[in-house]
Amino acid sequence: METKIIQSKNGFKHTKETKLKISITRKINYSKGKWTPWNKGIERTDETKKKISNTKKNLYAKGLIIPWNKGKAWNTEVKNKLKKSAKKGKNHPNWKGGYWDKKYQNEYVKNWCKKNRILLKNKLFDLLGKKCQKCGFDDIRALQFDHINGQGGKDYIRLSGKRSATAGYYKYYVEHPEEAKKNLQVLCANCNWIKRTENNETKTCGKKANI
Ligand SMILES: [Zn+2]
Repeated sequence: METKIIQSKNGFKHTKETKLKISITRKINYSKGKWTPWNKGIERTDETKKKISNTKKNLYAKGLIIPWNKGKAWNTEVKNKLKKSAKKGKNHPNWKGGYWDKKYQNEYVKNWCKKNRILLKNKLFDLLGKKCQKCGFDDIRALQFDHINGQGGKDYIRLSGKRSATAGYYKYYVEHPEEAKKNLQVLCANCNWIKRTENNETKTCGKKANI
């Protein structure tokens, strides 16, 4: 084969034309089984792969190469294939034994309930005011909702099923603001306890206070 060689800064180089000719000849020979590339059957090492990848990235950053699939929309077939091969659930490398494991579940529910409770509590404060109705104390951390007629315990059970479940209780009164204004008032912890002992609303506390 005839080849033309041109001189460059780094020595001698084939011209573009010659390169193309060589490439075509090689392809023909390869298809006939007369020629095999030197790297045929040799797997690229991770190092080499990284090198290639980095070079491509650099060239792309400089705008010298464009990936073949740049700007091309994926057809549905490819999308479905990717969907099928997508690593989900237990097959995903980041799988940590399932989000809904008891451990996570309890934590998640706990956090959610806490957030929900705080949100509802704030809404109720907005409705009833953020001030003790007796002494005017206004630090929200020590403000409580007091049952004007002292039936708090019964109301808790009526509205949330449990005496300790406050979220259901708050929710009901947020949804029924008229009832909330009728039944509840904001008191600070001190005033609330004093009211409870004075009215004998809390059994143990009332007894102790009477001693
Ligand atoms: Zn007070």
